[in-house]
Amino acid sequence: MSVATMQAIVKPEPKPGARLQEVQVPEVGLRDVLVRVRAASICGTDLHIYKWDRWSARRIHPPLVFGHEFCGTVERVGAEVEGVRTGDFVSAEMHLACGRCFQCRTGQRHICQNVRIIGVDADGCFAEFVKIPESNIWKIDPAIPVEYAAVLDPLGNAVHTVLAGEIAGRSVAVTGCGPIGLFAIAVARACGAGTIIASEPHPFRQKLAVKIGASLVVDPEKLDATAEVLAATNGVGADVVLEMSGHPRAVRQAFQMLRRGGRISLLGIPSRPLELDLANDVIFKGATVQGINGRRVFETWYEMQALLKSGRLDLAPLITDRIALADYEHGMELLLSGNASKVLMYPNGKP
Ligand code: NAD
Ligand code: ZN
Repeated sequence: MSVATMQAIVKPEPKPGARLQEVQVPEVGLRDVLVRVRAASICGTDLHIYKWDRWSARRIHPPLVFGHEFCGTVERVGAEVEGVRTGDFVSAEMHLACGRCFQCRTGQRHICQNVRIIGVDADGCFAEFVKIPESNIWKIDPAIPVEYAAVLDPLGNAVHTVLAGEIAGRSVAVTGCGPIGLFAIAVARACGAGTIIASEPHPFRQKLAVKIGASLVVDPEKLDATAEVLAATNGVGADVVLEMSGHPRAVRQAFQMLRRGGRISLLGIPSRPLELDLANDVIFKGATVQGINGRRVFETWYEMQALLKSGRLDLAPLITDRIALADYEHGMELLLSGNASKVLMYPNGKP
């Protein structure tokens, strides 16, 4: 029995906020891996948990150590772990698929019916250590920098979305330039996309979109984003639209700016059901509509690794802030203001 303790960011009770506190280092089961976290990154989901919105109140059962984006070094492995060793540089797929449902048994683990998420349904990585089942560990090529390794989870969302259809030589519209929309622009650029038009109301994020490879950024609160995309594509509309905001107005515009016969991939999650003009924007257009959930396990991870190793993905401008774990409140506030993209925290000390 281990009685060691560690520092962790905990949601101690069902109400807004969080607390930095001493908790027990997780017990490692036979097939578990204990990882010493080198860097963790704050996701929009963590903001929901921090603010304690309706979704969190239904889903989260405090006390919970939250956080699900990280990389680290393997500290210890369970007795039956065979493919992972102490000292390995790793991250993990934090969606735990059940392995028994129809989807799991037919190669679609990313849409498992009984998914549990580490950092949402079980203790996560905003801590000195995190426990992961061996089957979900992703070993990282040592050539990949720690800062990129810490954001493989959201980068994987972007890679999954961008590579869900043809991208090279296509005109691409991205609605919403939060961290994932920004990653999507970088990935589309690296994969040979043609014109990339982004829509985003926040000035800080508009600037990042240009820096990372967008050809044109539209402020949807000042200009008609659909008209701008049509103007930039000779009146045809975008070949590919990536919806990365979940904002109802952006979702409707995303469908409108798609060309006839184009592909629209939706990753952004609207907070409530919304109305669409299916006749004009999907049916008569002959549109291909895709819902994108998580990352394909582990196809997306291999694609991501290949892209990172190609050297064509420069994500440096998107890592905007680096803070100590104890300064988590500052990190949350930065993200809530929109004046940040990825905020990294260092539970075992800044490098
Ligand atoms: P985010 O909230 O930081 O980004 C959304 C961006 O959209 C913001 O920058 C916001 O300013 C912008 N926006 C708001 N209104 C807009 C409008 N009318 N037009 C264009 N842009 C607008 O979120 P994120 O972390 O980058 O994630 C993006 C979305 O993807 C969120 O909805 C999130 O919940 C969702 N998500 C989905 C999955 C999945 O597996 N499907 C995984 C992670 C996140
Ligand atoms: Zn399943």
